[in-house]
Amino acid sequence: MVICPTCGSPECVRPAEDLIAGTAGMYAPCNLCAAERPLDKLAPFSGLGRFFDRDAGRCPACGKRHIDYVMAQVLGILVSRGLKSGRTPLKDAGSPLIACGFELFEAPRLGSKSLIVLLDHVDRAAAELILAEVPEVKGVLKRSGGPLKSVGLSDVGVKPHTYELLAGCDMRSDIVSSLLGEMAFYRNHRQMHVEFWRNNSVKIKVLEQLFLDGGLEGRTVVDGMASAGTLGLLTATAGARRVILNDAWLPAVKNILLNIEVNKKALGVELRQIAAPESLPLISKEPTLVARASGAVEIDVYHADLRRLAGVVKECDVCIIDTFPGISPDAFVKAWKGITKDRIITL
Ligand SMILES: [Zn+2]
Ligand SMILES: [Zn+2]
Repeated sequence: MVICPTCGSPECVRPAEDLIAGTAGMYAPCNLCAAERPLDKLAPFSGLGRFFDRDAGRCPACGKRHIDYVMAQVLGILVSRGLKSGRTPLKDAGSPLIACGFELFEAPRLGSKSLIVLLDHVDRAAAELILAEVPEVKGVLKRSGGPLKSVGLSDVGVKPHTYELLAGCDMRSDIVSSLLGEMAFYRNHRQMHVEFWRNNSVKIKVLEQLFLDGGLEGRTVVDGMASAGTLGLLTATAGARRVILNDAWLPAVKNILLNIEVNKKALGVELRQIAAPESLPLISKEPTLVARASGAVEIDVYHADLRRLAGVVKECDVCIIDTFPGISPDAFVKAWKGITKDRIITL
């Protein structure tokens, strides 16, 4: 059992194998609601001509609702509180993030506590009302900076960008399926950027090619800006002997620890904490070894500026440098060039 570090619930964060086993029916309609028509997302909300309460659009057989109806109820609450105009079309209500993300081929039908909403115009009272009234909503985040500004730390010395959690919990997972394995990765989105790992993700393709070329077997891999640990932990299930996961942003390090725990069956490891994350600064000052996982593979988790981590790790075979959009990898590549034996991958 894993306790959610955000909401403290034992139900919120589940082992990867349980999540993966449950995906088939998770957002699927039943026979009765499969033909339900979506709402017009471009029409003004007031023009939809109906009232959206918690039962609007709900299937009497399976109890789920098409995502459009859930977002319409959310928008209705924002309009009733004067935070959005009645002319707003449904597509501009906000950004819905399903609590467990994976490749979907049709609009999701949502069950209880299965959606986190990112809203630009919302206050705490409205957020709490949404959480209380809309059964599908698990958390409400107030977004600032627009949809294109990434959440998190782009580089040491740059002010991190965060969203505000106004109600509920912002912990959600993405299931990543690849040739390297199938794993689940949790992130809390007030501090971690949204990134969709679909099966055609360029980053996953690069790792798959490396795996097919035999470039991971028995190697030491550094995932230098690991974020939630996705790329590094995938290499850890695919033959790497030692994996070093690092991030300068403490919330990312905490997510990495959670993700090792969630995926420990696939990884075949036991996690041992070395430094208490609560004692560490939000942005790394000195490189710190936070935790070590041992078993089928050795995994070290560091909280460090990637440039300074090179002096601690001393050598590796593969170094993955996945910078934020718009951040040059040059200084990081320079720091790792002399000590990376096989290849540096910049993404
Ligand atoms: Zn939670
Ligand atoms: Zn149904």
